[in-house]
Amino acid sequence: MAQNIKNIVIVGGGSAGWMTAAYLSKALDKNVQITLIESSNITTVGVGEATFSTIKLFFDFLGLQEHEWMPKCNATYKMAIKFVNWNSQGQYFYHPFQRYETVDGFDISEWWLKTKRHETPFDYSCFMIPLLCDLKRSPKHFNGEVFDNKAQDLFTQEITTQKNVLADLKAQYPYAYHFDANLLARFLKDYGKQRGVRQIVDDVVDVHLGEDGSIDYVKTKEHGTIKGDLFIDCTGFRGLLINKALGEPFISFSESLLCDSAIAMQIPTDIKKNGINPYTTATALSSGWVWNIPLYGRVGTGYVYSSAFISKEEAETEFRQHLGEAVNDCRASHIKMRIGRNRNSWVKNCVAIGLSSGFVEPLESTGIFFIQHGIEELVNNLPDTSFNEDVIKNYNKTVANCIDGVRDFLTLHYCASNRADTEFWKASKRDIVISEELQERLRLWKSRLPNSKSINPNYHGFESYSYSVMLLGLNYLPENNLPVLNHIEDQKAIATFDAIKERTDYLSATLPSQYEYLTYVIKSQ
Ligand code: FAD
Repeated sequence: MAQNIKNIVIVGGGSAGWMTAAYLSKALDKNVQITLIESSNITTVGVGEATFSTIKLFFDFLGLQEHEWMPKCNATYKMAIKFVNWNSQGQYFYHPFQRYETVDGFDISEWWLKTKRHETPFDYSCFMIPLLCDLKRSPKHFNGEVFDNKAQDLFTQEITTQKNVLADLKAQYPYAYHFDANLLARFLKDYGKQRGVRQIVDDVVDVHLGEDGSIDYVKTKEHGTIKGDLFIDCTGFRGLLINKALGEPFISFSESLLCDSAIAMQIPTDIKKNGINPYTTATALSSGWVWNIPLYGRVGTGYVYSSAFISKEEAETEFRQHLGEAVNDCRASHIKMRIGRNRNSWVKNCVAIGLSSGFVEPLESTGIFFIQHGIEELVNNLPDTSFNEDVIKNYNKTVANCIDGVRDFLTLHYCASNRADTEFWKASKRDIVISEELQERLRLWKSRLPNSKSINPNYHGFESYSYSVMLLGLNYLPENNLPVLNHIEDQKAIATFDAIKERTDYLSATLPSQYEYLTYVIKSQ
């Protein structure tokens, strides 16, 4: 007879392992023993420092206030991603965490195409965030109020702790965080252990399957065998349980996304003098792009590139040239990336979460988002010992749809860009596989910008405004404005643009800088 799960064993102590342990210790606080095994010999990937705006809900669910965890993880706020040099004009644009205003039922971006396309950039006209980013502002006032008053009302602590299903979330929080991934894992380790998670520091050397093909136990070097009802594979790109032991195939995305390697570096910075950018920057280079993630006290940076177009050594030389003399003494670490997903992330009694489940290049900071999504879906589909096949199938479909949706969204970043100055950029349009659905949508979006009915309908974190922003930023514009807008007066739209500008000017003048806010408010609590 089916029984409740009593023992959950997590293998791996990177961000995925400790996020999962912390979340499960809060979500299932009765009658479950959670054990986490982590190796002291195998390092974590150690990157993964920019997040997606849903991450706020993860901390809310754990009951953690910003002042409790942010200073311990050198965390900063992120309101947008700034894309630099992604089109042939060498411009930049911001992809903010903010929905469009609507006027007479149409996104303000459609009105921008009609009334302002030749005057001001779309991002500065339609959103408040770009100017606040330029001015390095904090998203919060000194009294703790968030700049976007719609979000302030929607996200009370009471609401967020109840809403632990991302796909059901009807609101957009206007910021995410940057943090030191190692410090966050340490912080969550303390949180989990305080809530009863048992930590074993050891190497898993063997995974033993029972007669029905499920995992019976894992064997460690020094702690013998560890049995469990449910095993969670958080062993990173190795996929020790899901791929190696259970033999689940990995589906590569290399035909759609060409980047397969990265070089990461940490640069000390004088934040008092330079301030702290409240955004991630993604700057296109010859064979990929560079991330810049400002933390409290240092910058994390890395070059994501395609090894088919540039060697490891050439990439490091180009990366160092891009960063300048300041990094002469900084050590670079080279990382090979496994891009794609498992055919199934849940097999028998094993669920893979984190890099062992799936990963796409970190262009939209979705690695940690995938972890959050995987954990939430696991809690919502928590099995008993019967491991119902339909529940497992449903989980796998939801997770696969999410990762595939992000893959297509990232593919759009390359194929909609008009940059074609190197072999990599030419191949990023000419040689990649674009799914039929995306091709059809791209054709449609030449006539009108994306809306909720014309994007991928499966939950993958991105809303139609994000698609629209990328297309406008990359100069993949509809040829004409929406014909229906020619039958509607412009006044309301003009008034909305004016109101956005007025509010932006007010916020620019009143919000503290991110450096001031973090230093004096968060750190002093
Ligand atoms: P890992 O960090 O690799 O951890 C694996 C764990 O498994 C380790 O603790 C290891 O000791 C343990 N382990 C392995 N084998 C064994 C064994 N035999 N016995 C015991 N323990 C074992 N995500 C974002 O959201 N934003 C970003 O900006 C971002 N940037 C990224 C940049 C790059 C270049 C890469 C590669 C990833 C990035 N990610 C990003 C993804 C993010 O880093 C990961 O999603 C996150 O760190 C989770 O990693 P993990 O815990 O799955 O794996």
